[in-house]
Amino acid sequence: MNHAIRIHEYGGPDKLLWEEVPLPSPRPGEALVRHKAVGLNYIDVYFRTGLYKAPSLPAVIGLEAAGVVEAVGEGVTAVAPGDRVAYASGPMGAYAEARVIKAEALVKLPDSISDEVAAAAMLQGMTAQYLLHRTFPVQAGQTILVHAAAGGVGLILCQWARALGCTVIGTAGTEEKAALARAHGAAEVILPHEDMVERVKAITGGAMLPVVFDSVGRDTFTASLDCLAPLGTMVSYGNASGPVPPVELGLLAAKGSLFLTRPTLATYVAKREDLLRTAESLFGAIAGGAVQIRVNQHWPLRDASAAHEALEGRLTTGSTVLLPG
Ligand code: NDP
Repeated sequence: MNHAIRIHEYGGPDKLLWEEVPLPSPRPGEALVRHKAVGLNYIDVYFRTGLYKAPSLPAVIGLEAAGVVEAVGEGVTAVAPGDRVAYASGPMGAYAEARVIKAEALVKLPDSISDEVAAAAMLQGMTAQYLLHRTFPVQAGQTILVHAAAGGVGLILCQWARALGCTVIGTAGTEEKAALARAHGAAEVILPHEDMVERVKAITGGAMLPVVFDSVGRDTFTASLDCLAPLGTMVSYGNASGPVPPVELGLLAAKGSLFLTRPTLATYVAKREDLLRTAESLFGAIAGGAVQIRVNQHWPLRDASAAHEALEGRLTTGSTVLLPG
């Protein structure tokens, strides 16, 4: 018997149904993984609501999990039965007790990384890795802005950027979240009642910023552009408040020849060598202490709807793990 959380139609958390689903044998190139821990990510909300579309319905949602390989199909050399593995880049299907997935999507886990940390960190941590090292390679001495600084990606970005020598300005929804972000590397945190652009102006002495990492989307996009120095880079990598409406290109000229990018992890780890390099960099940052993964919430996998309500309700901090039981 294999249980999973499936959606039959797009909608609210009530559309997440705990059901029995088939578990096929792995075909050539595939592996069967029994999950020990499943990662909760904001992208799961987009797939549940239909902002992002599943390949077909019904669909098991979820993109990230850690577990043990139980069987492999013909020709698989990347992993073997008994290996501890994790993934964050395969097709959807992670909210399940077990699943079959392309073996090339799997990364073997070092002993230093627990199942729980892997499930919490693969997607959010590899995102922080590529944002800080490849989308906009930050340099020591730079001051940067990180939105939702107390969230999953946010807490990792704050710690890693500080370890790289940056001064991090965060944004957060409450004073408690601001305190958490400060405890994880943010030098300053801007709260919703404050004027973000004015605060950035004051903190930087009017110089403004070389880069903004914006995961909030619609509500913050324009103010984020206004926080940039001329030739600054706007990294719009998420839409927690809703998708950013179409952008008039002239705006980037008017605000100082700005750069704008809308990156996604899938592109940055599409090649296996990039996936392995990115994961290795993340595991190194965790093992070396530059980044601590804060798993601040757990739910049984079957209660994924409660986890979604909390995530959308801005009630979570750090990372969240769903336990198959
Ligand atoms: P978070 O833990 O950061 O949760 C989302 C946070 O966004 C909330 O806690 C809240 O923090 C903030 N937020 C601001 N406005 C809203 C709103 N209207 N509704 C809900 N939340 C809001 O989630 P994740 O760490 O999983 O993901 C963070 C973001 O990064 C998401 O937008 C996600 O899509 C994106 N992402 C993008 C990737 C990519 O490669 N492009 C990969 C991974 C994640 P507060 O209350 O403090 O404002």
